[in-house]
Amino acid sequence: MPLRYLFLDMNAFFASVEQQYKPELRGKPVAVIPTDAESTACIAASYEAKAFGIKTGTPVWEARKLCRGLICVVADHKRYVIMHNRILDALGSVLPIDRVMSIDEMSCRLMGDDRKTENAIAIGYQIKKAIYERAGDHMRCSIGIGPNTMLAKMAADMKKPNGLTVLTDADIPSALHQLKLEDFPGIGPRMARRLNLYGVFAVQQLCALPVKSLSEVWGSKVLGGRWFRLLRGEDVIDPPSRRQTVSHSHVLPPDLRTDAGSYGILVRLAHKAAARLRKINYWTGGVSIGVSFQDDPHSGGWHSGGWDAGCRVPHCQDTPTVLLAVAKLWKDRPPNRVPFKVGVVLSDLRPAKSATPSLFEADRKAAEVSKAMDEVNAEFGASVIHFGAMHGLEHAAPTRIAFTQIPDFDRRVS
Ligand SMILES: [Mg+2]
Repeated sequence: MPLRYLFLDMNAFFASVEQQYKPELRGKPVAVIPTDAESTACIAASYEAKAFGIKTGTPVWEARKLCRGLICVVADHKRYVIMHNRILDALGSVLPIDRVMSIDEMSCRLMGDDRKTENAIAIGYQIKKAIYERAGDHMRCSIGIGPNTMLAKMAADMKKPNGLTVLTDADIPSALHQLKLEDFPGIGPRMARRLNLYGVFAVQQLCALPVKSLSEVWGSKVLGGRWFRLLRGEDVIDPPSRRQTVSHSHVLPPDLRTDAGSYGILVRLAHKAAARLRKINYWTGGVSIGVSFQDDPHSGGWHSGGWDAGCRVPHCQDTPTVLLAVAKLWKDRPPNRVPFKVGVVLSDLRPAKSATPSLFEADRKAAEVSKAMDEVNAEFGASVIHFGAMHGLEHAAPTRIAFTQIPDFDRRVS
């Protein structure tokens, strides 16, 4: 099988970003923590900290026991997003990016002569160099090159930190057979137990299973066939999962064709769009709003004669960040017009893949909720109060809604 894919995985990403920004942390055991409290768990550990047995999920008090000199740094999400974009930029300068799996994992397709082993390796080193130059000299990565994305990812996992591993057909048996079943992406503890029930305890046995047995284990002919081909290095193309946008628009009922009325509906649509985003498990990187006006003869869509505005946001899927962007954009609406229809569009969507620790995710959200709430309250207090009133009108529910109640609201609108 040709070498079709190159997989990039940043090493100890959050901890490395901290060490990149603060050179005094380099060479030292660093743990990134969500909040400054002993009761929380580490969301990332530098390689120096990993050497003491500290990993993602280790409680801070335990981590301190394992390593007396441990330096705990509170996560700085903005920094990680900036660095993520620099890495995309560096990788994209060498090869077109095929998929972004998470904040620190992405893959590219190799074409033509790039599939020759020595050329693929040279490209791998070029990528590392581009990352050092564009993201920072402390930003190390492991690169895996293989015939499909699964095997390329597994190749990347084989040498950390700072690896570059190629899995050619000849390497596959020896490289895979020494792994554990759970080293395969997509085989968690539950699936491993299921495989055990079918008498499969080693990778060699897994690789020898006929497609019929794989289909039984996975409970699906499609999945069984997929695994059969993946294990043999075939290029299994996933059905396109990349959505372009999530959008909602609404023609205003006559009594709401006012500035306040249209904003109330807009906020509701923003809630709905954010809830939809979470439901399909994507993150958005762009928020746009639009208004068409009653005095416009072509008020069917805001792009003809209406008004629209958009902005970029750090990739997110939480309601407050979307609301904050909407509130900021709304400030620039044209004055003294009678609105007819409003809409919200979330764009630059990325599938949220589980590689970002859930711990971190939960915390990131909480932080963003409170931060956005503070900003909204400080800057747009009137709008928030208005939204509460709007909500009351629409659903005969309490006249005031706190940000902490938004998940509830999302459930109702989705
Ligand atoms: Mg990583």
